Amino acid sequence: MAPRMLKFVTVGRQLPEKREAAARRTDFDEIFDEFDPVRAAEQAGRCSQCGVPFCQVHCPVQNNIPDWLMLTAAGRLEEAYEVSSATNNFPEICGRICPQDRLCEGNCVIEQAGHGTVTIGSVEKYITDTAWERGWVKPAKPRRELDQSVGIIGGGPGGLAAAEQLRRKGYQVHIYDRYDRIGGLMIYGIPNFKLEKQVVERRARLIADAGVRYSLNFEVGRDASLADLRRKHDAVLIACGVYKARELAAPGVGLGNIVPALDYLVASNRKGLGDTVPAFENGSLNAAGKDVVVIGGGDTAMDCVRTAVRQGAKSVKCLYRRDRVNMPGSQREVGHAEEEGVEFVWLAAPEAFVGDDADRVTTVRASRIHLGVPDSSGRQTPRVIEGSHFTLSADLVIKALGFDAEPVPTLFGTPDLTVTRWGTVKISYRTMMTNLDGVFAAGDIVRGASLVVWAIRDGRDAAEHIDTYLSAKMAGRQTAVAAE
Ligand SMILES: Cc1cc2nc3c(=O)[nH]c(=O)nc-3n(C[C@H](O)[C@H](O)[C@H](O)COP(=O)(O)OP(=O)(O)OC[C@H]3O[C@@H](n4cnc5c(N)ncnc54)[C@H](O)[C@@H]3O)c2cc1C
Ligand code: SF4
Repeated sequence: MAPRMLKFVTVGRQLPEKREAAARRTDFDEIFDEFDPVRAAEQAGRCSQCGVPFCQVHCPVQNNIPDWLMLTAAGRLEEAYEVSSATNNFPEICGRICPQDRLCEGNCVIEQAGHGTVTIGSVEKYITDTAWERGWVKPAKPRRELDQSVGIIGGGPGGLAAAEQLRRKGYQVHIYDRYDRIGGLMIYGIPNFKLEKQVVERRARLIADAGVRYSLNFEVGRDASLADLRRKHDAVLIACGVYKARELAAPGVGLGNIVPALDYLVASNRKGLGDTVPAFENGSLNAAGKDVVVIGGGDTAMDCVRTAVRQGAKSVKCLYRRDRVNMPGSQREVGHAEEEGVEFVWLAAPEAFVGDDADRVTTVRASRIHLGVPDSSGRQTPRVIEGSHFTLSADLVIKALGFDAEPVPTLFGTPDLTVTRWGTVKISYRTMMTNLDGVFAAGDIVRGASLVVWAIRDGRDAAEHIDTYLSAKMAGRQTAVAAE
């Protein structure tokens, strides 16, 4: 029998236990504990079971949230897992790192009514972590093997989700990745305190167990061209993400100890994974004992400031040219960072960097900003306030201004691949195919820097379109043979 739901009137919103900031500062472990079964059922039972669930509408993979909340409240966890994994390849990852305040939870009806949202992400994580513990998570098993093969460039969430879906249908799937580990930014970008690496690694193993082949340290453009992959496979999916860091234009930006965010985060993640990282050991990508200034206001900047705190920085400041309400990063992450001791310098932009005799940065010169009238995108334009200069001491400056696409047509040796004016790969939104026959694209390389859950959605959609394309190709071949 269905349990009584709609408990939001009598049961308050509660997240799993959050570790004290003082303890969090000293390690890279995740900051939230797991729900216990009673608390998970109680929190799931707060759902109002809306006829039109806005949480689902605003979830990029359209998770059937009310149903798995109802099943969790009833203690029917295996069924909850089946429902939740039917629409999402990595529910426990999304439960951890989706910006729920902007997606499902931000649109929960009881949140809008002032009762506090259902803790959707934490329940989603709880369901799938339990499924892993109890052995319910199994590799995809195709009903029949097909001869056709698909080559996927990039083993991030987009490539992996597509690979798993294609494997379920029986295709032979081969992922090529230039990193030495599978997972893309889930391994080397997002820090451990948001997403522990073993959570990604067990997914990568599961997909390999389903029969997907990985070629690591394999860079398309260096070890093979796109044309080589097209000859080898019946279809190719480009899911290579966006990695060209946006640059700052200010005098002194070339000084030593001014580093790109991803270099800094990759070094820290590698260190956590047990690799030897010379740039970390020699201090150039290590914040220990330093005055750190991070420039930017997105999620990457938040990850940098919180990593610097954990590495034992003397002070950590985040310089952002807009204010708190206008920043692109999740408000939840800002809250965590503030608790951990990060100082935010809102409405401020760097003007120049000053160095010592060894050309290493010592000072950031900045100006205060006033937000002017909105531009064509609707965002207020930042304007420097004349004469408002100030300085910040810094022995490590991290540039976290976002990412653009690398020049994919040149890199892949395929100048005829069409890209947009932002350099992202252009696809038909009806088929997800590029202008090259049999070449599809998904994830950040199509959308620009986005979210894991959107990459999963794209990977799943691309798998469907590739299946349609390959089925038609096979049917065409069979008709031609029959006609001979
Ligand atoms: C620091 C940081 C923190 C983030 N935090 C969050 C978060 O909290 N929540 C969230 O939802 N999203 C977050 N994101 C965004 C999220 O990680 C990305 O949107 C998502 O990973 C995109 O998936 P993807 O599969 O398109 O690309 P990626 O994850 O970038 O994977 C692309 C893969 O392609 C490989 N590749 C690239 N070029 C080649 C080539 N030439 N040959 C072979 N392989 C190649 C790369 O090595 C990589 O493994 C964060 C991003 C960053 C940078
Ligand atoms: S996938 Fe993300 S947006 Fe969708 S329900 Fe889970 S946490 Fe919310």
